[in-house]
Amino acid sequence: MLEIPGMIRTILVLGGGSAGLLAALTLKRKLPALSVEVVYSSRIGVIGVGEGTVPYVPFHLNGYLGLDEYEVFSAVQPVIKLGVRFAWGKRPHFDYTFTGQQHSWRWPDLPRNNGFYGFDDPSAMDLSSALMDENKALPRRPDGLPDLPPPGNNYAWHIENKLFVGWLESACRREGVRFTDAELAGVETGPQGIASVRLDDGSVRTADFYIDSSGFASELVGKALSEPFVDFSGSLYCDRAVVGGWERSGETVLPYTLSDTMDSGWCWRIDHPDRIHRGYVFSSVHASDDQAIEDYRKIAPKAADPRIVRFRSGHYRRSWIGNVAGVGNAAGFVEPLEASALMVICLQCRWLTDGLIDSLQAPDDSMRALYNHLNAGIWCQIRDFLALHYRFNDRLDTGFWQRCRSELPLHDLELLVDFYRGNGPSAISAGHLPAGNPFGIEGQLAILVGLRVPHRKTYTVSPAEKARWEKHRDQHRAIARAGMDMQEVLNRLASPEALRRIRGR
Ligand SMILES: Cc1cc2nc3c(=O)[nH]c(=O)nc-3n(C[C@H](O)[C@H](O)[C@H](O)COP(=O)(O)OP(=O)(O)OC[C@H]3O[C@@H](n4cnc5c(N)ncnc54)[C@H](O)[C@@H]3O)c2cc1C
Repeated sequence: MLEIPGMIRTILVLGGGSAGLLAALTLKRKLPALSVEVVYSSRIGVIGVGEGTVPYVPFHLNGYLGLDEYEVFSAVQPVIKLGVRFAWGKRPHFDYTFTGQQHSWRWPDLPRNNGFYGFDDPSAMDLSSALMDENKALPRRPDGLPDLPPPGNNYAWHIENKLFVGWLESACRREGVRFTDAELAGVETGPQGIASVRLDDGSVRTADFYIDSSGFASELVGKALSEPFVDFSGSLYCDRAVVGGWERSGETVLPYTLSDTMDSGWCWRIDHPDRIHRGYVFSSVHASDDQAIEDYRKIAPKAADPRIVRFRSGHYRRSWIGNVAGVGNAAGFVEPLEASALMVICLQCRWLTDGLIDSLQAPDDSMRALYNHLNAGIWCQIRDFLALHYRFNDRLDTGFWQRCRSELPLHDLELLVDFYRGNGPSAISAGHLPAGNPFGIEGQLAILVGLRVPHRKTYTVSPAEKARWEKHRDQHRAIARAGMDMQEVLNRLASPEALRRIRGR
């Protein structure tokens, strides 16, 4: 191998949660000659929450990393997530799915994109929302197998954090990652960033490069290097969650995340094959912990021992400083309304790994600048998308929601909302989004139309257009009715043979 000054050959990852393990796995799979060690503390443990995903997460594992699809599916036991069903706004509910064929989609036989036709009733606008109405996870193929799109297309997963972390650890070990169970006892800094770390077993570690995945503790980026934190509390008011769950006892497995409006925030329901998890994300300014737990118990009466998790939304100004890069909660966090954290982690791992590959493992300041630019950009885009949800939710009139509606800034999305108010849910409003926005125009229109944000150019649909529009929706409904619920999908995918046939191998 070519010898380049400053070349990175050894990496120490601090933290064995999903962020540290995804970083170690990604690096080692793409750069097998790297020496990668994960230092984690079984005493401190992992955060144990983080279960909703978006389609990029399965793509990262099965597409970018090329891991065997059946191995991941059978080890992680995901429930298919077709999207999020929001009990927000004045409708009983509306859906935001991952097909990219909701509001901005235009049928060849209709003159406008779907958003104009579905303003009053967006149900069954795409196949996923029709499936969600029927509690079906996937369409059925003529051969009786589930029609499972390739990973990264149309669906994401619900995964239990501890199960995911356990599988990631075994996958890392198989790739040759080394593990040390010890706690950080001290950090020596130097001109390049971190000079060495001391562990509580008395050993000292040095590496060419360090990854800080120590969770909210942010031991290296936040504490040792004192990087300033960019606080999002002016845009996102929630800072705590009540979390809990119960063993499934007859409830249908929902193939989507359910998001309920609560007095001082919102509550998720995430289904796993054998468990159901509920979490109430709330603002501590508007509800005490006791009040939040009382409200949580009303919506999740079966949940035993709910616990409070505290967080702050925002990110460290720079995530990569000298020879240290932060990945996961150690670099930043935005509340889980759109379950974006694992996606950001996967992207961070990919940016880092591709950056090392392309720089011949000798990254310079321009690589660090790009990583920091990408991180700051994605956090802001997520912040603004979540703010859009809060700003227009008129379901409840509590102090929390009044404050969201009257004060909440939308930053770069103000222009898009102005355009929407003037022109309706036009797909060309995508021009107001930065390239690579993780939710795209689909996401923004799903929320604006879903929450019935009014606009000035009301479109009167002709009877002929209406008939064509209804025909498309009826086709979705017919496929959905014949589809498979999650339990049947799990039964069908219980052997590698079924997945091989689905993939045509
Ligand atoms: C309420 C809530 C809900 C969430 N829901 C979602 C969701 O639906 N979807 C999603 O994608 N994400 C969600 N997240 C984010 C989720 O937590 C992260 O995506 C993910 O779990 C990454 O965690 P992590 O690895 O950064 O941190 P952690 O899991 O906290 O891991 C930190 C690691 O560092 C180690 N460590 C810490 N300090 C030391 C030390 N001093 N010495 C040695 N080791 C140390 C710990 O032992 C652990 O191994 C949620 C977060 C919260 C708070």
